[in-house]
Amino acid sequence: MSDGAAVRLADMTWMEFAERLPSNPIVLLPIGSTEQHGPHLPLATDAILPEEIALRVAERIGGIVAPTLSYGYKSQPKTGGGNHFPGTISLDASTLIALMRDIINDLCRHGIRRIVLFDGHMENQWFITEAADLAIRDQRREGVNDVTILKLGYWEFISAQTEEILFPDGLISWALEHAAVMETSVMLHLRPDLVRADRIPDGPPAAFPLFDPYPFDLRPIPAHGVLSSAASATAEKGRAVLAQVVPDIARALQDHFAA
Ligand SMILES: [Zn+2]
Repeated sequence: MSDGAAVRLADMTWMEFAERLPSNPIVLLPIGSTEQHGPHLPLATDAILPEEIALRVAERIGGIVAPTLSYGYKSQPKTGGGNHFPGTISLDASTLIALMRDIINDLCRHGIRRIVLFDGHMENQWFITEAADLAIRDQRREGVNDVTILKLGYWEFISAQTEEILFPDGLISWALEHAAVMETSVMLHLRPDLVRADRIPDGPPAAFPLFDPYPFDLRPIPAHGVLSSAASATAEKGRAVLAQVVPDIARALQDHFAA
C-alpha cells in the first residue's frame, strides 16, 4: 500500500509537505509521556511505542507522522506508578490540552483535514478528547466543517487472539500492564538496545483501593514502579503484537475515512 513517500513530517522539506496536501493525507500525531517504566525500560517508552507503530501504520496508508509529543499528563499510581518517580516529567492538563489544540489547529491551517491522535499513555486520554473537541469547535468557528479527528490508544487494538499469546494465563488489566508484559515485549522486539533484560521485574500485581487518595498514598505502589510482573515478556510476543495491531489499525483508519 505504501507509495514510497516519506512518512515523517519532520524529515520533509516544506515543499515536500506541500506537495502531499492535494492528496488529503491522514496525519498521525503520536502522544506519549516521559514516565518511569520500571528498572528495565526507558522513560520514553510511552513515546517510542506509539511513534514506531504510527510510522508502520502510516507506511501502509500513505499517511504522515507528525513529531511525537513526548510529554503527557501526570502519571497516576493505578496506571503508571505515580508522578513521584525520578525522571517522570509531566504536564498539567491545561498545558497538554492547549498544546494539542494548537497543533491540531495549525495542521488544519495548512489544509490537513484527517488527523489521528495516537495515544501511548493511558493518562492522556480525556485530555486528548478535550483538545479534539475544542479544536473542532475552533475550526467550525473559522468556517471549516470538514475536519475529522480520530483518537485511539494502540493497545486497544490488541485482539483476543494476541491477548492469548501475550497472557496465556489471562490478562489482569490493561491499567496494571504498565511496564509489564506487553510494553516490555514490544520494546524487546523494537528496541532491544534500550531494554535492561537483566532487570525485568517479577512479582504479584499491585493491589489498590477503589478510591484515589490525593496526595498519593505510596504504600500500594511497587517500589520498582512496575504494576504487574513483566517476567514473561519476550521479543516474539512483541513481534506478534505488531504483526496484528499495525494492519488492524491501518484497516480501521482506511475504513473510517473511506466511509
Ligand atoms: Zn507505558
